[in-house]
Amino acid sequence: MTGMLRSRPVTIVGGGVAGLTAAIALRRRGAEVAVLERAPAIAEVGAGLQLSPNAMRVLDALGLGPAIDAVSLPSRAVRLRDASGSDVVRLDMDGHRPGARFRLIHRARLIEVLEQAAASAGVRIELGRDIAALPDAPLLIGADGLHSHVRASLNGREVPFFTGQTAWRAVIDDENAVPEAQVFMGPGRHLVSYPLAGGLRNIVAVLETREWQDEGWSRPDDPANLHAAFAGFGGPVPGWLAQVKAVHVWGLFRHEVASRWQDGRRAILGDAAHPTLPFMAQGACMAIEDAWTLAACLDAAPDQQAALARYENLRKPRAAKIVAAANANARNYHLTGARRLAAHAALRLGGRIAPGAVLSRFDWIYDFDPVAETP
Ligand SMILES: Cc1cc2nc3c(=O)[nH]c(=O)nc-3n(C[C@H](O)[C@H](O)[C@H](O)COP(=O)(O)OP(=O)(O)OC[C@H]3O[C@@H](n4cnc5c(N)ncnc54)[C@H](O)[C@@H]3O)c2cc1C
Repeated sequence: MTGMLRSRPVTIVGGGVAGLTAAIALRRRGAEVAVLERAPAIAEVGAGLQLSPNAMRVLDALGLGPAIDAVSLPSRAVRLRDASGSDVVRLDMDGHRPGARFRLIHRARLIEVLEQAAASAGVRIELGRDIAALPDAPLLIGADGLHSHVRASLNGREVPFFTGQTAWRAVIDDENAVPEAQVFMGPGRHLVSYPLAGGLRNIVAVLETREWQDEGWSRPDDPANLHAAFAGFGGPVPGWLAQVKAVHVWGLFRHEVASRWQDGRRAILGDAAHPTLPFMAQGACMAIEDAWTLAACLDAAPDQQAALARYENLRKPRAAKIVAAANANARNYHLTGARRLAAHAALRLGGRIAPGAVLSRFDWIYDFDPVAETP
């Protein structure tokens, strides 16, 4: 910490994971931070998040580890299963990287932890502030998500395209669940589920479809549509789906990673900079990484323009690589026919003879340490 940020005003648009984490990281380094959030209250839709070690290193460095631990579960493994429920491979995270922290958390709990930490550090949070015309600020940070005004001001208007996939999400009750994430892979569809603290279970179910759904996540749907789409699935899935009383559906759109992340006075992070399909579970994790690196770069250089350029150079290649990996996973989970049988057989074999090798494919994501890279 250099003290370079002491008393410097920073305005952040958006009080989601990216905006609140950036606010805490900047405030800890001395900045005077205001967060402008359009919602009348900081509230989150009901859904889960997987936090992987790359993001946990940042949350731990910000002193939030104990608060996160109190409201989340450890994730011991990722279990890939066929639609019938039979195991394809179980990736043992604990065994592969002892001590690396994978946590399963309800989004609302994460936002509460971040909001409380921001408020008690002295961040000013202004609710009900819908920022359409950008305020003139010496440093304006756009953490305003998928339809970011700050991104549009830097890059012009861009049009995302529908991926041909819609997804349902639901939370059900489940006491005493095994703390691992499970992915059930069927032709043209897959279902991800993991337990959350407080006796809950998160479900995300993705279906390839020609039907166009809105982008955004708060459209309620009839649970019968979810039941029908996954009627052929086995294992615990029918029991879980029978419990779903309320479900939301949304369309999955592809966006390019922003080509311009900053102009010396404005910068973007999180979904505003690199919206991703959810198939690597890294959207929020990347937002948390961004937040740390942005604050560290601003703290390290007296020249704001150079600091923001360094932030963009450090973050853009990694974000682009993770977004590409998520796009590839969308295809891998939904294989059909002979390609599906071959891919699952290869995974089963790999899991038996070289489980470390299967897991090591993602070391570049989980072993990354933003705190060590930019202290
Ligand atoms: C089903 C699903 C599962 C996911 N699972 C995972 C996972 O397991 N792990 C993971 O890391 N990520 C996951 N993600 C991704 C993750 O949720 C997002 O990447 C992350 O929430 C992005 O945070 P953000 O702060 O950039 O954007 P948001 O959370 O969208 O926050 C943006 C904020 O800006 C505010 N805002 C927007 N416009 C304005 C405006 N004009 N004025 C003022 N405020 C404004 C909004 O109200 C909002 O509060 C998942 C996403 C989905 C859809």
